[in-house]
Amino acid sequence: MEKGTLYIVSTPIGNLEDITFRAIRVLKEVNLIAAEDTRHATILLHKYEIRTPCVSYHSYSNDSKIQSIIEKINEGQSVALISDAGTPGISDPAYTLIQAALAAEITITPIPGPSALLTALVASGLPMHHFRYYGFLPLKKGRQTLLTGWRTAAASGDLDETIIFYESPHRIARTLEDLVKHLDPAVSSTDATSNWTVVLARELTKIHEEFMRGTLKELIQAFKTKPPRGEFVVLLSYKP
Ligand code: SAM
Repeated sequence: MEKGTLYIVSTPIGNLEDITFRAIRVLKEVNLIAAEDTRHATILLHKYEIRTPCVSYHSYSNDSKIQSIIEKINEGQSVALISDAGTPGISDPAYTLIQAALAAEITITPIPGPSALLTALVASGLPMHHFRYYGFLPLKKGRQTLLTGWRTAAASGDLDETIIFYESPHRIARTLEDLVKHLDPAVSSTDATSNWTVVLARELTKIHEEFMRGTLKELIQAFKTKPPRGEFVVLLSYKP
């Protein structure tokens, strides 16, 4: 029996109009949609009148869910993989299903579309020829080592890439404090000029989309008067 295909379908990161014609066609034509969260997926599927059956996958707790999706593809069904936002696998649990499909020699077809990191980068004004994406920063172990590593690289002239990572609203203020402490120790307690430029891209593609640009200290100050809301992409660039 011929196997089905696993389509990796990118979906909007906020604005529901950010989806391709091809993505909608594939979501309508496949036998099954494997979604990170079926309740979340319903909003998109309802808007585009997509009536394909939808199941959830979950990479951490339930390997049998992934195996049952793989079996269905092995039996000839085609499955579209979607995550809560953007490109599946970029800092979300879709990676496990993609790995399992590759191990089972299933054909994978990506359907490109939005991702928060590129959406933020192209409008940030920071250098975009070279960039490095870190996903979510480690919360404890490895966090300080990573940040001091960026400082060392910058000081020795080895950091010509824009740094990009994701952050949630309840952690962003603390992360900016950590950045100023580890990247800019000399300016954190003085008025010395910083070589680091930061851009915070907030609520991308949504009504309250905002790009906040400045030094670490300026952005920390901004959050003292206006508490952060929405999801963030953080971009950092060092100019010697
Ligand atoms: N797969 C997604 C992608 O392709 O960008 C990323 C999923 S990750 C679980 C979610 C994080 O992406 C959020 O915490 C935030 O940092 C970033 N993000 C997603 N949507 C965003 C948006 N509309 N505006 C700003 N950041 C966003």
